[in-house]
Amino acid sequence: MKMETEVLRNPGQVHSEVARWREDFPVLRETVHGKPLVYLDNAATTHKPVSVIEAEAAFYRHTNSNVHRGVHTLSQRATDQYEEAREKVRRFINAANTKEIIFVRGTTEAINLVAQSFGRPRLTAEDNIIVSAMEHHSNIVPWQMVCGQTGAELRVAPVNEAGEVDVEMLGRLIGPKTKLVAITHLSNALGSITPVKRIIKMAHAQQVPVLLDGAQAIAHLGVDVKALDCDFYAFSGHKIYAPTGIGVLYGKEAWLDAMPPYQGGGDMISSVTFGETHYNDLPYKFEAGTPNIAGAIGLGHALDYVSSLGIGAIAAHEHDLLEYATGLANGIKGLKIIGTAREKASILSFTLEGVHPHDIGTILDHDGIAIRAGHHCAMPIMQRFGLAGTARASFSLYNTRAEVDALMAGIARVQEMFQR
Ligand code: PLP
Repeated sequence: MKMETEVLRNPGQVHSEVARWREDFPVLRETVHGKPLVYLDNAATTHKPVSVIEAEAAFYRHTNSNVHRGVHTLSQRATDQYEEAREKVRRFINAANTKEIIFVRGTTEAINLVAQSFGRPRLTAEDNIIVSAMEHHSNIVPWQMVCGQTGAELRVAPVNEAGEVDVEMLGRLIGPKTKLVAITHLSNALGSITPVKRIIKMAHAQQVPVLLDGAQAIAHLGVDVKALDCDFYAFSGHKIYAPTGIGVLYGKEAWLDAMPPYQGGGDMISSVTFGETHYNDLPYKFEAGTPNIAGAIGLGHALDYVSSLGIGAIAAHEHDLLEYATGLANGIKGLKIIGTAREKASILSFTLEGVHPHDIGTILDHDGIAIRAGHHCAMPIMQRFGLAGTARASFSLYNTRAEVDALMAGIARVQEMFQR
């Protein structure tokens, strides 16, 4: 993939650029409890660069109108900007055409759309759907719901001690009655990268389509849906420096064409009478109601921003931070890293002996350090490791080694407090 060659860029060269990248994010100048903010909760949501903040504001200042409806100039401008954002998404993930790009609220809505629109009409009590043991609840509950509606079975591919999906076992779960494999591209709880290309090949060999939950991967890995050959790809804008409330479902045109609409309303129709309704073409068939126009425009600007830095340069920097943090964490007595997959990105999940993750999070917050503590909306994988939760530091393009040092110093203070 394009990104893999870019990642080989000299990480030292990338470091010197990070100070400049940080300038683009106004919130990083905030202080928390009188300390400079050290924001290590990027897997939950990322901060927004000025270009995204200004693009949203500019839409409301200069353009604000509804899309696809008005003959007046502002409405046409809004439509043009909204559709331009769709084209930016298409380019960013290398989809074949913009009919395959559906704007939704986020990953959660994208997966629910596929569950109800692809899954529900196809599934019977004989069929099954496969997920892995390390899914976010957003890639579990929609499938449980559609299984409840149809009687289909939800099969779960196991995850090993390192936090890697057991691909052999997953292969054995795929059978003639499997209707879909739905799997995370990058685990938000452990940081494991799933060998999705291998899984897709395996599933396609049995004519089973694959949905990838790209909520985390989109900002860190460089996604090429054509190279992956996935059937569906779901992601949220807010995890890649865009506003909340906007996300994308990519689907191969042939699948989307064959699927009924998810919701009914304005924009998704071509004609309506009380006798019958004809649905609009792709992608509008799946975009009922007034969309998040400013959000979509903001997303387009966020993708421009990431492309301008280069996803490869970003990934190389984040990889360096993760390696550095992992090395330091491994030297801390009583700290256990949860998730030691060979292929990882941007997430360090850990426990500290004798300290509840929430206490770690609260004490670090007093030092201005924001991490996540808890089950990370992935309770089944926590149960797999016999844990109620972990503390999680997650890195992004604007984090630095100095911030990793601050985290480690904070952890040392937590340990001191609990040893007293
Ligand atoms: N899937 C994964 C792997 C996630 O990390 C998240 C959010 O943390 C989601 C799905 C849900 O994303 P959203 O809440 O933006 O819909």
